[in-house]
Amino acid sequence: MIPFNKPPYTGNEEKHVLTAMRSTKISGDGHYSGLCHQWFEKELSCAKALLTPSCTHALEMAAILVGIQPGDEVIMPSYTFVSTANAFALRGATIVFVDIRPDTMNIDERLIECAITEKTRAIVPVHYAGVSCEMDTIMDIAARHNLYVIEDAAQGQGSTYKGRALGSIGHLGAYSFHETKNYTSGGEGGLLIINDQQFVSRAEIIREKGTNRSQFFRGMVDKYSWVDIGSSYLPSDIQAAFLWGQLEKSIAIKENRLTTWAQYSAGLQSLAVEGKISLPVIPLGCEHNAHMFYLKVADLEVRTNLLEYLAKQGVHAVFHYVPLHSAICGERYSRFHGEDVHTTQGSEQLIRLPIWYGISESDVAQVIGAIQRFFR
Ligand SMILES: *Cc1c(COP(=O)(O)O)cnc(C)c1O
Repeated sequence: MIPFNKPPYTGNEEKHVLTAMRSTKISGDGHYSGLCHQWFEKELSCAKALLTPSCTHALEMAAILVGIQPGDEVIMPSYTFVSTANAFALRGATIVFVDIRPDTMNIDERLIECAITEKTRAIVPVHYAGVSCEMDTIMDIAARHNLYVIEDAAQGQGSTYKGRALGSIGHLGAYSFHETKNYTSGGEGGLLIINDQQFVSRAEIIREKGTNRSQFFRGMVDKYSWVDIGSSYLPSDIQAAFLWGQLEKSIAIKENRLTTWAQYSAGLQSLAVEGKISLPVIPLGCEHNAHMFYLKVADLEVRTNLLEYLAKQGVHAVFHYVPLHSAICGERYSRFHGEDVHTTQGSEQLIRLPIWYGISESDVAQVIGAIQRFFR
């Protein structure tokens, strides 16, 4: 069976994890955390990068930082992971979903403005498959309506929009280092990206259980105490060491994935030309990181049959998000603004194919062959 995913592993991780284990500080913000923070701050030209235990936690921190209060509204796509919505629902916000674009499965930027009310505080674009949302339009809307933009760039490390790294464009951004993403800090992990300087000092406090411990360690205050709300949003230095091993190979990982992506794209082109499937679109100005290779078929029935057929052929392909507005908590915490034209339909048509760092050309060829046999 060709699995759907294998966690990225370069062989580089071991020496760093061992070094971290043998050091005298393995809790958060040790040597390797510092290396990762510096690496991201240089790579993203952001005001501050802070490792978190997950992207979910980075989003939760973002919701606290922008001051979400009960009754506030936050605009995002329904076609996303639960954490995008939960982070804001946890602070009492009402989630306002708008439809997606069928070409990228990203939020339709043209539908955002009419969903804005007096209560709207933030927009959360999700860069699906590591392909950027239309950020110029989104930032312009936010500026005109005085809203914050928090990029859910969980899948977007290594991608750019008009030359700018995803996660570095909004006021805040979040990456995931879960084992299913392009880079992992040992299974779980994330990063909060702060682009707006005003959030830096409070972010450090929220991340350290609501204390000014970071300032204390830098000798800026002579004792630390409870100064704000917060939680424990630091991963251990062993996780940072694991991630560091991957950051050293970040370009190799990205290029390897892009090669796989190109093989899928070329191998499935003929089916797309015949109109049996549609392939992902990479808009002009967007460079992606090959986080995902997906295709869309006619409808749910074809998808169910194709997934079954692929499983019999030894290929583990999977579908993706069930739109959040149709979930139990969707009814409780959200509303859908406008019409759901593409969200439910697109989610029912989509199939993700196996892709990971190091997947062999012959495995990819086997997946392509199986899909072609299904349609012929
Ligand atoms: C993976 C993912 C998350 C959650 O990441 P964790 O690190 O597992 O918390 C959030 N949003 C999107 C779009 C994701 O793909």
